[in-house]
Amino acid sequence: MKYVIIRDDDVNFFTKIENLNKVYSFIFERNIPINFAIIPNVDASAKTFSDHSSDNIYEPFIPKEFRGQEKQFPINENKELIKDLRSLRNAEFLLHGFTHKSEVGNFEFEIEEESVINEKLNRGSKILELAFEKKSKTFVAPQDKYSEKAFLALQKSFDTFSLGWIDKAKIPKSFLIKYYLMKLRNNNYIFKDNFLVLQHPGCQFSKFKEIKKSSLILDKYLFSHKIAVLVVHNWEFFNGKNLNQELYTAFKNRILSLWENEDFKFINFSELNKIICK
Ligand SMILES: [Zn+2]
Repeated sequence: MKYVIIRDDDVNFFTKIENLNKVYSFIFERNIPINFAIIPNVDASAKTFSDHSSDNIYEPFIPKEFRGQEKQFPINENKELIKDLRSLRNAEFLLHGFTHKSEVGNFEFEIEEESVINEKLNRGSKILELAFEKKSKTFVAPQDKYSEKAFLALQKSFDTFSLGWIDKAKIPKSFLIKYYLMKLRNNNYIFKDNFLVLQHPGCQFSKFKEIKKSSLILDKYLFSHKIAVLVVHNWEFFNGKNLNQELYTAFKNRILSLWENEDFKFINFSELNKIICK
């Protein structure tokens, strides 16, 4: 049996449930497990540096009329959205940074100050706990960037750290032996002291990547690994108000074909440790 995890990133105070329904209703209707990496306290002045844009632009998931305001919006204050998210039967909620705002020269969790890292983690966890009445045990770093100090802080309060790729230069030395073993075994995770660090390089559907190429990467990955995390961003499925049909169709077809294939099972992050420890 192989295991697939769907991870959607960037749900926040401003996310519209109608848009989530437009993209994921085929998943919700079938109760396929899905994981939402949630920004607990999004900052409306958060900007992004990304490979799809050389400019320092405002995050596209912040509505135009709010962009640039140095103000934070806790997701638990959007009661309607929380009610709808909580009504989903097979959804799990992960902590995705705190405000998603980068500091000068560093992405949000690339910083070194332990007290700031801990405060962000504590306050973010509390907001998610208020919203979902459950502690989130999986962390996703904004832009996939983190410092060693952040890694050590995560190890203390989370079960799982989900990453695009594990950066050898950013993990503590005590993890290096396990890192090389992972490489040697062509594995995609390190499990040490009850902390799971899981990578999934290139496993994504994105409007900024060529869909055919992403599909091929995914084929190869699914073939050679027992566990795969497929990452998508709900806001990327839209061009303005319209659904990006090409991206949506590729994603939907892939999920449904895996759903119908009995060699694959969709799971949530909280089920991973059991599978890995088996
Ligand atoms: Zn993000």
